[in-house]
Amino acid sequence: MVRSIDEHFCDLPDLALPVAHPVRRVMTSTRPVVTGDRKPIRHIREIYDEKRRLGQPVISIELFPPKTPRAEKSLFEGVLPRLATAEPDFFSVTYGAGGGTRDKTLETVDRIQREHEITGMAHLTCIGSTRDEVAQYLDDANRLNIRNLLALRGDPPRGMPDIIPPDDEFEYSFQLIDSIRSHGDFSIGAAGFPECHVNSTASRHVDWQYVKNKLDHGAEFILTQLFFSNAHYFEFLEYMTGILRVSAPITPGVLPILNTQQIKRFTAICGATLPVELAARLDAFGDDADAVRDFGIEFATRQCEALLKGGAPGLHLYTLNQSTSCLAILKNLGLAS
Ligand code: FAD
Repeated sequence: MVRSIDEHFCDLPDLALPVAHPVRRVMTSTRPVVTGDRKPIRHIREIYDEKRRLGQPVISIELFPPKTPRAEKSLFEGVLPRLATAEPDFFSVTYGAGGGTRDKTLETVDRIQREHEITGMAHLTCIGSTRDEVAQYLDDANRLNIRNLLALRGDPPRGMPDIIPPDDEFEYSFQLIDSIRSHGDFSIGAAGFPECHVNSTASRHVDWQYVKNKLDHGAEFILTQLFFSNAHYFEFLEYMTGILRVSAPITPGVLPILNTQQIKRFTAICGATLPVELAARLDAFGDDADAVRDFGIEFATRQCEALLKGGAPGLHLYTLNQSTSCLAILKNLGLAS
């Protein structure tokens, strides 16, 4: 979602859930059965097509690459095995500012695919990268059988929002999408902003036309920024499908609230509105961290229920590398048991 948000969470231990009772997916798994030992890594466009035919939601889970040995142990020995029991359709792994996690992003996706046999998607930002650096990343992704990429511009360095890149660099994500397409057979996703991009100086309808432009350049699905009022998502969806005639899946990004002060900071950073009534409910919990987390699970469950009922093609869950809330929400929705 937002690079700076991940950075706040680089080293938090997961609130452990026991792995003892493996989660069984209530809905029939649509991953093709193969006769060999390993499940195939799929293009995300195929997953969306298949789930659409079956009338089932595509569930994706976003993680960030661990930055310390302790965080790595927590992710690979706790968080990931627990989340994998829910059998999401794919995991996505963020890309740090300025390529700071470049190798870790690919390495994390690679381990997810090899150790859990679940399709992975690597995020890639282009701001501040040369075309050669991007080409190298795509070669490395190809070599690791990473077939899905989320193509992003990334955030400009702090205090330099209007930076003009040199000729061999990228200004917008659609240029990155062009580059990826000319480089190999990747399934490409892009970002969408139901409340308009935080730095956009244009109207939200113009901002949404830029989202369509990414699809016109070859992105195949959109994952949205977090939001807390579903009306924002449905207005965005309606405009994209009704006015702009977009047929690609536009999947809402949902962040379960874990902590009141953090969510206030996050929403300020990424330009999402924290409705006053919601902020008041959270403030009323004071320092009771468990109550905030439980409320976050309940709120996100109701939010996801309404999103799916209203026609969302799936859910993209931001986990902040914590498994408890995400698993509880999927279980509440009947998407894991
Ligand atoms: P763009 O599509 O290039 O848009 C950037 C700005 O330019 C917008 O204001 C847009 O209105 C404007 N614009 C777009 N196209 C045009 C055009 N043709 N002409 C003029 N103006 C245009 N950041 C990270 O650093 N790492 C991550 O892993 C990461 N993951 C994310 C995952 C999701 C699901 C989301 C929603 C965001 C994520 N981000 C991540 C944040 C993202 O990089 C920032 O929000 C960034 O500022 C915008 O990226 P973008 O790809 O939407 O940029």
